[in-house]
Amino acid sequence: MTQLKPVSLYLHIPFCTYRCSYCDFNTYTTIGDVQGDYADALAAEIAFAGRASDVKRPVRTIFFGGGTPSVMSLADLEKIMRSVDDHFHLQPRAEITLEANPETINQSYVDGLKNLGINRISFGAQSALAQDLTVLGREHTFQTVIDGVDMARTSGINNLSIDLIYGVPGQTVQSIHKTLDEVLALELPHLSLYCLTVEPGTPLHRDVNNGQIPHPDPDMAADQYDAVTERLAETDLEQYEISNWAKPGLESQHNLAYWYNAEYLGLGAGAHGHAGNTRYHIVRRPRTYIRRLTEASESKALPYPLTPAVAESHPIDNSEEMADTIMMGLRLLKEGLNADKFESRFGKSLNTVHGDTITELIDLELLEWQTLSKDLGPSLHLTEKGRFLSNQVFHRFI
Ligand code: SF4
Repeated sequence: MTQLKPVSLYLHIPFCTYRCSYCDFNTYTTIGDVQGDYADALAAEIAFAGRASDVKRPVRTIFFGGGTPSVMSLADLEKIMRSVDDHFHLQPRAEITLEANPETINQSYVDGLKNLGINRISFGAQSALAQDLTVLGREHTFQTVIDGVDMARTSGINNLSIDLIYGVPGQTVQSIHKTLDEVLALELPHLSLYCLTVEPGTPLHRDVNNGQIPHPDPDMAADQYDAVTERLAETDLEQYEISNWAKPGLESQHNLAYWYNAEYLGLGAGAHGHAGNTRYHIVRRPRTYIRRLTEASESKALPYPLTPAVAESHPIDNSEEMADTIMMGLRLLKEGLNADKFESRFGKSLNTVHGDTITELIDLELLEWQTLSKDLGPSLHLTEKGRFLSNQVFHRFI
């Protein structure tokens, strides 16, 4: 029988109860009435993606992202999970993550998630301080995060992560330490830290432009990132990626698939995917998405990984695949980009493909070779200086 490579599933849930000031994600606050139809459409899209292969494709991670996936009812999430079970082979130890806003959950909901097989929750916390949450337009307090973590642990879900934001106008090195005091007291096994960007068209952009909120200060943001990095280095959390820390063994398996540039199916409105030498994205509008799936004929076979909701797709050539693999792999600070794995994947060595660029970046002290173990051979790593200039390093490989 054909053995298919395991794949990851990203499932987009485009609903929120309110809009945060900085958010430009594909999410909607006024169409909660279509959630049931959306769950049916997503279940149908999963079936399309699964049927494109002769045998059930193994799934090693699922990530419900959004939006706010925790606004979906348990019944709707069950429909979606059942479709995954029916059309894919969910591996026994698959990591199944759901992003949750803490104010949207209660104990019976979290118990229900556990019963559906969800074994990891990523909480959108952003800060422990009311003043930051106000600037970000978040309608929860840090107490709801503490309560959410308690509920998850009570239900037996211990693989927990928290998202934090730095570079918020008004935030200081001192205040981010206060957030860390609260967060570290929770003893979570995973933490993500993202820099605030002021995206055009958002309420935050408007408020910054009309002077109501000061412009974020990039130097202050760099000082905050440094402070967090130094503080977390004293804990049992390891920085395994530019924006992510985890207790050893509890790294996000789903996100590692992105950083390894491995195959993943993005399903749901506006999702992006990369599989079968193709990159694609799905139509953005949930109503259009639902219509596409409702009108699609079940018998119409599309080549893997396409589904009736794909808006655009293009083949990936070898040089794009190599550049993506380098850029994503260098984000992995602990592991780096392993030269042997690169060569066995592409049939060419890193030095053959990019030797001059690598030498130049090593001379500039932005990259370095490290050998972590004899079995693994050398890996290319960002230096401390390279971490600050990572985007410039990545662009040299395009
Ligand atoms: S909860 Fe997340 S997706 Fe929803 S509006 Fe806020 S930032 Fe955007």
